[in-house]
Amino acid sequence: MANTPSSPVRVRFCPSPTGNPHVGLVRTALFNWAYARHTGGTMVFRIEDTDAARDSEESYQQLLDSMRWLGLDWDEGPEVGGPHAPYRQSERMDLYKDVAEKLLAAGHAYHCYCSTEELDARRDAARAAGKPSGYDGHCRDLTGEQKEAYEAEGRPAIVRFRMPDEAITFTDLVRGEITVQPENVPDYGIVRANGAPLYTLVNPVDDALMAITHVLRGEDLLSSTPRQIALYRALISLGIAKEIPAFGHLPYVMGEGNKKLSKRDPQASLNVYRERGFLPEGLLNYLSLLGWSFSADQDIFTVPELIEKFDVADVNANPARFDLKKAESINADHIRLLDPKAFADACEPWLTAPHANWAPEDFDRAAWEAIAPHAQTRVTVLSDITANVDFLFRAEPVEDEASWAKAMKGDPAALLTSARATLEAADWSDPESLKNAVLAAGEEHGLKLGKAQAPVRVAVTGRTVGLPLFESLEILGKDKTLTRIDAALAKLAG
Ligand code: GLU
Ligand code: ZN
Repeated sequence: MANTPSSPVRVRFCPSPTGNPHVGLVRTALFNWAYARHTGGTMVFRIEDTDAARDSEESYQQLLDSMRWLGLDWDEGPEVGGPHAPYRQSERMDLYKDVAEKLLAAGHAYHCYCSTEELDARRDAARAAGKPSGYDGHCRDLTGEQKEAYEAEGRPAIVRFRMPDEAITFTDLVRGEITVQPENVPDYGIVRANGAPLYTLVNPVDDALMAITHVLRGEDLLSSTPRQIALYRALISLGIAKEIPAFGHLPYVMGEGNKKLSKRDPQASLNVYRERGFLPEGLLNYLSLLGWSFSADQDIFTVPELIEKFDVADVNANPARFDLKKAESINADHIRLLDPKAFADACEPWLTAPHANWAPEDFDRAAWEAIAPHAQTRVTVLSDITANVDFLFRAEPVEDEASWAKAMKGDPAALLTSARATLEAADWSDPESLKNAVLAAGEEHGLKLGKAQAPVRVAVTGRTVGLPLFESLEILGKDKTLTRIDAALAKLAG
């Protein structure tokens, strides 16, 4: 088969700019990119914007921005340029027109004058008779007179590609050998009646013109591959293409309830992960496991490790299940792997954002750096950070009635009064001394440390759970701690 390309690897990522990028799309981009980097090949980024009704500039910008955020760089494409520019299909219309004319002239394509109603009627009749229901070849071999008659009627004509009457076999890099019989692949439209070229034409034509060697894409496109291979053969005979690329169809990604993850699924939107504070490397690590595995006993790895190991030959054909919990846990592991300064920097946008629950100007970098190591071992996504450290930057702790009710049981005023006294006398340069102070206050009331520290924590941070308490108190400082205990006592006194 002509699908073991002999030249250096050239892969492409060619999304249509419609809507927000979703995780399935990112997985496709990632596998192409990892394969390009693994083989020292070329990553081509092409924008398939031939559907003016659905494409948007906003979505185009989001695609570029998402790729940059993820660190999936491209060697040829928008803003980078390259020998096959332009890389936006909307700017390549003359090329497609030219190819369509050549296909028509050589008889690889023909004008089809059938109206939608006629096509529908014949399809229904074929179905009823239990026959294949695709295009029936009605206009394949019209005579000159028949064509003239249709033209005289003013019938609009689409351009249809003439499929060869033979089976098409190819070896999918993921699924192995696939053979499709000709009755299952009818002649198909490549140019609309208004002259607009269709995906069926522009996608393989660009792959040919851009000398793509490996087409790695979602399984949903598997059914278009036999058509594209036939078109490729025609392009080769016309000297437009050199060789048929190898195809590898990546497994479906399943979401909740074992249904295909759909673009509209909120869990599918890349922006959701970005806004929650996934690290690009955490997300890429997780997405690479959708249909591939690093090794039997390791599922946390860096991007360079992924590049070293990734081979499309190891991609599994079975559907992959999107598991949010696993994605989060992998991201948490990548947060632990950051060096402390990188972690502090990565969180800063969340700590200074206007949506943090304190005034951005109250952010204090020194206090943040002091507490950051305690937070780094605890957050799953970067946005978790605000609730963990807001007590440092707010004038007063958050008011959380549930936490208050849970912690202020028994005689909290008596405990807090004792704790205020022991804390006031403690050594504030040593968290151990602060711990002993709360321990001693607890003992006065027959309370173990856990019970004694709960009212202190809620008085000072507003919450029942958080970072290690005594380090938190030390960083917040003596004055603020005592003031907050006083305020809690006042509240308890009603
Ligand atoms: N623009 C097509 C899509 O987004 C690309 C298909 C392909 O990779 O061949 O579905
Ligand atoms: Zn027709």
